[in-house]
Amino acid sequence: MSAISPSAAKTPESTSGQPLLSVRNLEVEYRTKRGRVKAVDHVSFDISTNEVLGLAGESGCGKSTIAHAVTRILKPPAYITGGQIMFKSTDILGMSDDELRAFRWEHLSIVFQSAMNALNPVLSVGAQIIDAIQAHMPVSKDEARARALELLDVVGIHSNRVDSYPHQLSGGMRQRAVIAIALALNPEMIIMDEPTTALDVVVQKQIIQEIRQLKDKFGFSILFITHDLSLLVEFSDRIGIMYAGELAEIGPSREIFDNPQHPYTVRLMNSFPTISGPRIELKGIPGSPPDLVTPPSGCRFHPRCDVAIAGRCQEEHPELQQTSPRHFAACHLIDERKGNS
Ligand code: SF4
Repeated sequence: MSAISPSAAKTPESTSGQPLLSVRNLEVEYRTKRGRVKAVDHVSFDISTNEVLGLAGESGCGKSTIAHAVTRILKPPAYITGGQIMFKSTDILGMSDDELRAFRWEHLSIVFQSAMNALNPVLSVGAQIIDAIQAHMPVSKDEARARALELLDVVGIHSNRVDSYPHQLSGGMRQRAVIAIALALNPEMIIMDEPTTALDVVVQKQIIQEIRQLKDKFGFSILFITHDLSLLVEFSDRIGIMYAGELAEIGPSREIFDNPQHPYTVRLMNSFPTISGPRIELKGIPGSPPDLVTPPSGCRFHPRCDVAIAGRCQEEHPELQQTSPRHFAACHLIDERKGNS
């Protein structure tokens, strides 16, 4: 079991072989009047073809910032200040605006939390799908409309709603329409940033099941972002837990659920009901996430950690360590347990 330095070549991988998406040492900061906020700090992970990687953590932990960085839609005051994002052999951070326009939707699309904000209120959903198709493919309007009808059918919207405006659809239907747009060009990866958070739990569950079926049918990969860890355990192949801009733990979903290695992951799991597991008493996490203008020294979780090691956790920053072939966590307890602190 080895410690992983952020700059080391070996980082939390998905599987063997070339990953579809490879993020290395990503750094993003927000330049605010109060100072520089390191929202994402040396985060590395891979996603392979047809894999779902879920990112979870409390608000402000950096998970949505990662989604926005990968799709290059971050706007000032947010800046990518370091790292590399590769999509197969394409360097996303090195792309020109024209290259990015061609790349997005065709290879990588994104579904946001609020469908109402993602959809144009003055265009029918059909027109929006047709626009997305015609912006990237040399097809006639009739061909694009036929594809739009197909896509609506795929996401469970009756074709007679093709000329409906967003405000004429329910919240669930709007979110399905956004997913249809994301699927329009058969991308290899879809980034989903809290795609079901605004919906009630029944619709949420239906849509999650449908996304999973679509993934199996079309073979795309998903980077799925949510604050709801129990949802991720059901849905993802692997999970990454973010805390204060850093990756605290990453590994196969079942392993994280059965054998979490980081005290923050344990607290986070105890704060959500499981979807299909036994009933447990829910406990909040005491304290609140740190101010990232002046993050805590040592382990950023130490002010909230009830198992912190006195004299070490306040001083020494924990690096990700491998705890099983595909499981990594950043906590001093791991090597304390092994007796080689
Ligand atoms: Fe807690 Fe220390 Fe582990 Fe941080 S490194 S999570 S403070 S035990």
